[in-house]
Amino acid sequence: MTQASASVALDTLSRVFGYESFRGDQAEVIDHVIAGGDAVVLMPTGAGKSLCYQVPSLVRPGTGVVISPLIALMHDQVEAMKAVGVRAAFLNSTQGAAERAEVEQAYLSGELDLLYVAPERLSAESTKRFLENGKIALFAIDEAHCVSQWGHDFRPDYLALAELAERWPTVPRIALTATATEATHKEITQRLSLGDARHFVASFDRPNIQYRIDPKNEVRKQLLSFIRSEHRGDAGIVYAMSRKTVEQTAQFLAQNGIDAMPYHAGLDAGVRARTQARFLRDEGVVIVATIAFGMGIDKPDVRFVAHIDLPKSVEGYYQETGRAGRDGLPSTAWMAYGLNDVVQQRRMIDESPGDLAHRRRLSAHLDAMLALCETVHCRRVNLLAYFGQKSEPCGNCDTCIEPPESWDGTIPAQKLLSTVVRLERERNQRFGAGHLIDILRGKRTDRVAQWGHDSLTVWGIGDDLSEQQWRGVVRQLLAQGLLAVHDDGFGTLVITPDSAAVLSGERAVQLRREPERPASSRSGGGS
Ligand code: ADP
Ligand code: ZN
Repeated sequence: MTQASASVALDTLSRVFGYESFRGDQAEVIDHVIAGGDAVVLMPTGAGKSLCYQVPSLVRPGTGVVISPLIALMHDQVEAMKAVGVRAAFLNSTQGAAERAEVEQAYLSGELDLLYVAPERLSAESTKRFLENGKIALFAIDEAHCVSQWGHDFRPDYLALAELAERWPTVPRIALTATATEATHKEITQRLSLGDARHFVASFDRPNIQYRIDPKNEVRKQLLSFIRSEHRGDAGIVYAMSRKTVEQTAQFLAQNGIDAMPYHAGLDAGVRARTQARFLRDEGVVIVATIAFGMGIDKPDVRFVAHIDLPKSVEGYYQETGRAGRDGLPSTAWMAYGLNDVVQQRRMIDESPGDLAHRRRLSAHLDAMLALCETVHCRRVNLLAYFGQKSEPCGNCDTCIEPPESWDGTIPAQKLLSTVVRLERERNQRFGAGHLIDILRGKRTDRVAQWGHDSLTVWGIGDDLSEQQWRGVVRQLLAQGLLAVHDDGFGTLVITPDSAAVLSGERAVQLRREPERPASSRSGGGS
C-alpha cells in the first residue's frame, strides 16, 4: 500500500460519496485491493462493506464486477450509484435482450465503473467469454457465505466462482459477508480459492442493540405491549414465519393504533414496493414480514426488530436483528419463543426434503438457536461466541440486566419423562405436550377419559406446577436434548438416549426460572 493510493482513495470517498473518513477496516481493505491483493471481508450488516469494493473499482482501471445474489436489489443499487455519478449497470435475468446488449456494449467500450452480475449469469461460459473482452478492475463477491453448504443461504451457482481465480489470476478478488461463523469463513476461503487473501474480520458486536428473549404466551399482546411501552412511534420490523401470521399480526397491530403493514412474497410486487417505500420514507412505520423483507434495506433508524417465531438459525437471527440501530443509537432486538416453536421446527426438519446430512445441519442450526434462547448467561457472549469472538458479559441484554434464576428441575423432569415412557407403551397413539401436561396436572379432559389415562400411576403427580410452567419445562427439556419430537408428524414427545440418566437419578436437571405471566387459554396463546 502506498501513500498515493491511500490519498486517492480518500479523495474518491469525499468527492464521490461525500464522506469525510473511512470507518473501521475500510481504509485498509481498500488500499489492499487497490494494490491488487485479494481480500476476505467479514463485517456486520451496516458496517459499510459496499465502499470496500466501490472505491477500488473507481480507482483501479477497468470495471469492478460485483457478483450479488440479490437480483431484486440490483436495480436500486445501480440507481444509487448513478445518483452520485458512478457509471454503473447490471446484468440479470430480469432484463430484455436490448437492454442487455446496451449494458454489454458499455462494458466493452470501457464506459462502466461497476457492473453488477447475478451469479447464475457468471456461471455461463458465454458471460465469461464476454467479460474477457473488456477490462476488469476487480471481482467483488458479495454475500460470500452463499458459497457455504453448511450455511443457511447456500446457492449452487456460487461454487462456480472458484474458477475466477484460474481464469483471471491477476484480477484482485474481494469476498464480503455479514454472516460468518468460523466454519463458514473457512469454507469461503477454500471454495473461492482465497488462500492467499488477506482477511479482515471486524467485531460482530452491535453494542447499541439490546437483546431480549421472552417466553411466548399471548404473543400478539406481548408484542403490542412491547411496542407501546418502549417503541411507540418508532420504526420497526416484526418477523414471523408464515404469511398468515404476518397478515394477522399486522392487522392486529393496526387495529390497536400501530402504523403496521404486512410484507411477504405472496403480495403483489407493486404493493410490496409501496410498502417498502413507505417504510423508508415515513417515520414510525412497523413492517410485519416474513424473512423476504429486509435484505439490502438501508434504513438507519430502525429502532426495534421483533421475532414472534423462532428463527431457524443464529446466523439468520443475527442478520435480521442487525437491521436495527444502524445509526448506532439504542435499539432493541426482542423475541418471544415458546414450546410450539421447538415442536414445529423439529417437525419441519424431519419432514424436510434432502438427505440425512442436510437434516443434521438444520438440526445443528436449531440447537444453536435454542442454546441462545435458553442460556442463563449473557446473550451477547453466546451470540459472539457463535461467530468465534470472545467477549465479556455486556450489561445490555435481558440476562445481564436481570440474571435469570435457575432451579433444580430434576423431579419435574423425572415426572414428565416417566409419563412419556408410559405413553410410549401405547404404541399407536399420538400424544403431544398438551395431553401430557393434562395427565400430569390431573385434568380430566375428554381425551384423557377416552384413553383412560386418569388411571395411570402418573395421573395428577404434577399438579404443583401450572400449565404454563409445565410448558416451560417441556420446552427446556427439548432444548437440552432430554426430550425429542418423534418424526411422526404429530408432535409426539419421546425420550432420548440422555433421558435415561435423568430417570435413574444419575443426572440432575437445571432449568431457567421464567416470569409467571397471566395464564392464557391454550387455543389463543399459541405458545
Ligand atoms: P453493509 O453492506 O456492510 O451492510 P453498507 O455498505 O450498505 O453496509 O453501508 C451502510 C451505510 O453506511 C450506508 O448508508 C453507507 O453509505 C454508510 N457508510 C459506509 N461507510 C461510510 C463511511 N466511511 N462514512 C459514512 N458513511 C458510511
Ligand atoms: Zn449481556
